[in-house]
Amino acid sequence: MGQTIGFPIHAAAAFQFDTLEEAQSEFVHNTGLSYARLQNPTVKALEGRISALEGGAATVAVASGQAATLTAILSVCRAGDHVVSASSLFGGTTGMLSNILPLMGITASLVENTPGAIRAAMQGNTRLVWAEMISNPAGDVADIGSFAEIAHERGALLAIDNTCGGVGFLCRPLEHGADIVAQSLTKWAGGHGSVLGGSVTVGQRQDLSRNPVFTDGGENSVLAQRGEAALAWRQRWLGAHQLGMTLAPHSAFLVAQGIETLALRLERESATALGLARWLAAHPRIGKVSYAGLPDHPHHALAQKYLPRGQGAVLTFEVDDPAAFLPRLRVLRIAPNLGDVRTLVVHPWTTTHGRVPEAARYAAGVTPKTIRMSVGVEALADLQADIEQAVAGA
Ligand SMILES: *Cc1c(COP(=O)(O)O)cnc(C)c1O
Repeated sequence: MGQTIGFPIHAAAAFQFDTLEEAQSEFVHNTGLSYARLQNPTVKALEGRISALEGGAATVAVASGQAATLTAILSVCRAGDHVVSASSLFGGTTGMLSNILPLMGITASLVENTPGAIRAAMQGNTRLVWAEMISNPAGDVADIGSFAEIAHERGALLAIDNTCGGVGFLCRPLEHGADIVAQSLTKWAGGHGSVLGGSVTVGQRQDLSRNPVFTDGGENSVLAQRGEAALAWRQRWLGAHQLGMTLAPHSAFLVAQGIETLALRLERESATALGLARWLAAHPRIGKVSYAGLPDHPHHALAQKYLPRGQGAVLTFEVDDPAAFLPRLRVLRIAPNLGDVRTLVVHPWTTTHGRVPEAARYAAGVTPKTIRMSVGVEALADLQADIEQAVAGA
């Protein structure tokens, strides 16, 4: 009787022990609660939900999507190791792979988002293959099954950034052979543009026997000591315990609250995005429309295979004069976020991709005319009417 229906927030930095033995045992085994950088009941409850939604064995929640990316990569790579990644990536991930990881001696090859290009880039020291489930803004769909096969042949793991896959609602990459799912919880999980967060989830089983990070040290190796939990243990130890990128309990509460309506929102947003994509494609004053749910998208077949519930809430289209079009919008808002309940648009050429070299911008599907849209929960007709009046005025 009288229990909270929702999610209690444990605003605590440390947890009290009853006896010295209890405290000592906790410091040796790290199984329960001691200090909140390592674990907090609110964060732990959220982690359990994410594991369930992704079909994973364990999850560590961290402070942002960027923190999740760093945790996932450092969990399997050390100095001298190599990552192969599809180049159609979130800008922060490109920056991490090109600028931050080289500081630690980890290098990356960014290649075309196809099995052939990924295979050709694999090296003897490649420990990880990386791709986004649905990339933005181009809407490339990762061929997870093929990427997993290529990675596993070489003793490497496959990590998928499932931010646009919506915490397993549109796709569960672990079920198609991925070993790790990293994601930003800031986008569809939180869902209201009110919180930053990230998570890393591991699959039920992965082959770590060819990676020295886990095998070096014989009897004392991470693999020998931690067994099947080795990868999950290393991710929590790195992301939370050592690097301190822990998710705050108040943030965990907001993300958990967002997840309550995740399915409702993404179902609606995906359906609206498809409706808008079809309408825009037929509109005489709108240029090229890119959405994997449309038959002319190069990854349409992959989208049918991996994203049967919907192809996500992000699409791009071209208008002749973005500078005249964007300020005329009244319902759609100009903001650099994704996954909000409100429909958001940006002009990638001058904002999200402003510092990317021009040739790379075109390669990412970004031209001076491109508008990126993250579709919210508004009525399709209201969004159409707003775009119509803005195009007419521009
Ligand atoms: C936003 C985003 C990230 C980074 O997440 P933050 O929470 O902003 O740090 C990573 N990957 C993708 C695909 C994203 O859209």
